[in-house]
Amino acid sequence: MTARPLPGAPAAEALLAETAARAARLPNPPHLVMVRLGEDPASVSYVRGKDRKAREVGLSSTVHALPETTSQAELLDLIARLNADDAVNGILVQLPLPAHVSEQAVLHAIDPRKDVDGFHPLNVGELWAGRPALRPCTPAGILYLLDHYGLAIAGQRAVVVGRSHIVGRPLAALLLERDATVTIAHSRTRDLGAVTREADLLLVAVGRAHLITPEMVKPGATVIDVGINRVPGEGGGKAHLTGDVHPDVAEVAGALTPVPGGVGPMTIAQLLANTASAAEMQASRLLSR
Ligand code: NAD
Repeated sequence: MTARPLPGAPAAEALLAETAARAARLPNPPHLVMVRLGEDPASVSYVRGKDRKAREVGLSSTVHALPETTSQAELLDLIARLNADDAVNGILVQLPLPAHVSEQAVLHAIDPRKDVDGFHPLNVGELWAGRPALRPCTPAGILYLLDHYGLAIAGQRAVVVGRSHIVGRPLAALLLERDATVTIAHSRTRDLGAVTREADLLLVAVGRAHLITPEMVKPGATVIDVGINRVPGEGGGKAHLTGDVHPDVAEVAGALTPVPGGVGPMTIAQLLANTASAAEMQASRLLSR
C-alpha cells in the first residue's frame, strides 16, 4: 500500500480563493502590517512570501523592516501606533526576535483583535475555552487541509507529537474542539512508538528529521508532517528539506502530507484568512459604534 498524498497547494489555493472573495466584500481591502527586526535570512524570506501572497489575493500589506538594534521601547511604540490605527487590521511581528527584545512583552502588546498569529494570551485562552478567536496559523491551516481532503476528525484517536505554543498545543486544542480524542506526546513521553501506534490521526511537530518510522504508525492512519528540517546532501551534496516522518511511512499510512509542499503552504494561506477575519470583526464593530 502507498499512502494517499495530501499536497498543501490545492487546499491552500481553495483557502486563498475564499479569502480573496471575503476581502472583495469588505469596504476596504484588509490591511496586514508585518514587522521584522534584523536580516535573518529565514525571516526575510518568510515575510517576503507573506507580503507577496497578501497582494495576490487583494489584501494590502505593509512591511516595517527595522534594524536589529531597534530597542524594545521603540518596537512597543510602533505596535501602539498600529493598534490605534483603524486602517490596520492585522499585525504580525516576525519571530524570533533579537535577544534584547522580550517576545512575551511584544506578543502581549498587540491588540488581540489584530493578533493574526493568534499568540496573544487572550486568544490562547479563548481557543482553549472553545470560543471564537483568531487561531494560530499552522494548526488552523492543518484543520483546513484535513477538511479539504474529507478526512474525519470527530471521534478519531488523534496523537499530536510536540507541545510548542506555536504548533503542538494549539493543534491539540483545535482537534479537541472538533471532537477528536487527543493525546499530546513530547520529548519526555515514554515509549513514543506505543503512543503513536494508537493514532488514527498522527500529527508530528518536533523538528527532528525522520523521527517517526514505519513501525510507529498504525496501518491506514492519516499522518500530518509539520516538521521542516534542513539536512545535508549525501556525500557533501546540496542540502535539502525533509520532514519529521520517515519517507517509508508512506508504505504503512493511509494518507500522508509531503515535506516540503504539505503543511507549509497552509500557514501563509491561513494568515491571510485570519487577516480577513480580523477585518470583518473590526468592520462590524465600527458599524455598531
Ligand atoms: P519547538 O522546538 O518549539 O517544539 C518541538 C516540540 O517537540 C517540543 O514540544 C518537544 O517536547 C518535542 N520533542 C522534541 N524532541 C522530541 C522527541 N524526541 N520525541 C517527541 N517529542 C519531542 O518546535 P515548533 O516550533 O513546534 O516546530 C516543530 C517543527 O515544525 C519544526 O521543524 C518547525 O520548523 C516546523 N514548523 C513548520 C511550520 C510550517 O508552516 N510547516 C510552522 C511551524 C513550525
